[in-house]
Amino acid sequence: MIEYPEAIVLSRQLKQKFLNQTILDVEVNAFPHKMAWFNTESEIYRDVLVGHQFNDCIAYGSFVELKGEDCHLVFHEGVQLRDVQELPLDVKYQLMLVFEDHFLLVSIKMYGGIYCFKDDLNYVYRNIALKKPGLLDERFDLHYWKMMVQNNLEKLSMKSFLATEQRFPGLGNGCCQEILFEAGIHPKCKLSSLNYKDVEKLYHVIKIKMMDIVDQRGRDTEILLDGPGGYPTIMSSKSFDSPCPVCGGTKVKEVYLGGSIYFCPQCQKLEE
Ligand SMILES: [Zn+2]
Repeated sequence: MIEYPEAIVLSRQLKQKFLNQTILDVEVNAFPHKMAWFNTESEIYRDVLVGHQFNDCIAYGSFVELKGEDCHLVFHEGVQLRDVQELPLDVKYQLMLVFEDHFLLVSIKMYGGIYCFKDDLNYVYRNIALKKPGLLDERFDLHYWKMMVQNNLEKLSMKSFLATEQRFPGLGNGCCQEILFEAGIHPKCKLSSLNYKDVEKLYHVIKIKMMDIVDQRGRDTEILLDGPGGYPTIMSSKSFDSPCPVCGGTKVKEVYLGGSIYFCPQCQKLEE
């Protein structure tokens, strides 16, 4: 799933490969997928895109947006993008853009959105992601972080605080687990149990972790335009079988709040 750092990396990769080139043709939903979300009819995608060029690509939350004059194309969450010279026979895609000498293929994995519009799209998750400061923005400073903590003290667990309700757009289950491990905090730990020092430390861990993942071109669980990311996840399905890199102990996997959590019971103690 694309999260905040991968959206940034993808936007940079798309900028390098797909700006200022005319879109010659568009194919929508060649391989229908139940969980591929579109905001409008296929013909509108063609009307908006064919003959146009993108001149910028931006990232916000877990969204990536290619934009040109009267022309926007937005990718959200479980998308896999490919830049190919020839159409591969084994790839199922839900959007294809044809350029003069290459193609952009967009495939939906578990679920994800491909949105297209001329002027604006009124979509609540996008509106929130555009409005709130990104995790690496200057506006996301210690003052903002402390205010968010202060406003959410009522009984929330750490996973719930960080990764639900769009409090921090683009911060999902995957990045949340890397952050909590680094900070030595259990995902079920109550936000209200953190002391002043823990709160400050967690802020710095978030900033450093996000920068680190961006610098390494995304997490190794995600395949971006140039292949898998280079950041080796510690608390993911991919690395679950390897011992905790700090204490050497065995990691634990549990189902919690509609997803899997991974943690080290030694390094991330849950105080009852
Ligand atoms: Zn450990």
